[in-house]
Amino acid sequence: MRPWETIMLSPALEKQRQQLYAQAVADMEQRVQAAGDFPAMLAALGWGLQELDRTYTATPARVKATVACRAGCSFCCSVPVDVQAHEVLFAAGFIRKNFPPAELAAAITRTAAHRARVSGLYSDERGRLRQPCALLRDDRCSIYEGRPEACRAHHTNNVAPCIADLTEPDVAIEQAYIPALRSRMFAVMLGLDEAIEAAGFDDRAYDFGSALHEALTNSLCQELWMRRKPAFPDSCLADPSMDDARPGA
Ligand code: SF4
Repeated sequence: MRPWETIMLSPALEKQRQQLYAQAVADMEQRVQAAGDFPAMLAALGWGLQELDRTYTATPARVKATVACRAGCSFCCSVPVDVQAHEVLFAAGFIRKNFPPAELAAAITRTAAHRARVSGLYSDERGRLRQPCALLRDDRCSIYEGRPEACRAHHTNNVAPCIADLTEPDVAIEQAYIPALRSRMFAVMLGLDEAIEAAGFDDRAYDFGSALHEALTNSLCQELWMRRKPAFPDSCLADPSMDDARPGA
C-alpha cells in the first residue's frame, strides 16, 4: 500500500498529488541521466532532497499553520527509519564533509552500536525497541541538511500522539497526519525514488542506522551503487532476507 492510500484525499488534492509526482519523476530523471560520476550523482541527490524542502516551503500557509513539529521536538526520531541506498550515501557524504574527525569517529561508534542492537530484527521488531536514531544529538538532528527523505516528509498536527506512540504500540498516529501536506511530500518523495529506481539503482529498503554504519566504514558501497549493485549487505536490510523464513511465521 502506498503511504497516501492510507488517507482519503479530495479530488483536488489527488490531482495535485499526481502532478507533483509526475514532475518530480521527470525532473529527477533528467538530473540522474546527466550525472556521469558519483560526485555528480550526489549533486543530483542533493537537488532532490532540497526539492522536498522546497515542496514544504511552497505548501499553503494555512496548511503549514497546522503543523505541530518544532525544533527540539524529536519523538519521531525513535521510530525506525527505512531508506534506500541513495539516502544513506548522501547522508554519509554529508557526515564526511561536515563532521570533524572526532565527531565522525563518534558517529561510527554510535551507528555500530545501533547496528548490533537491531541486527536480524524485522521492521516491526525494530519499531518496538523505540531506539533513538544514532544521529540524534541533544534532541536535534546532527545531519539536518543531509537527513533522509522520510525525515523531511514526516509532520503531524498534534504532538500528543507522537509522545504516546513511544510507549503505546496501538496509538493511531495516522490521525495526526495532515493530508494536504503529507500527500504533497510523499508525492515528491516517491517521484524522486521512482526516477532513481528507473535508472537501475539499488531499490532495496535498508535500516538507516545499519546501512549508514556500513557506508561510513566501507568505501566500496558507493562503487557498488554506481554499478547498479546492492550497495549494502543483506544484514542492513529493513527486514531480513525474504529467503529466510521468519521464525514462527
Ligand atoms: S536522521 Fe535526523 S531527523 Fe532522521 S531520525 Fe535521525 S536524528 Fe531524526
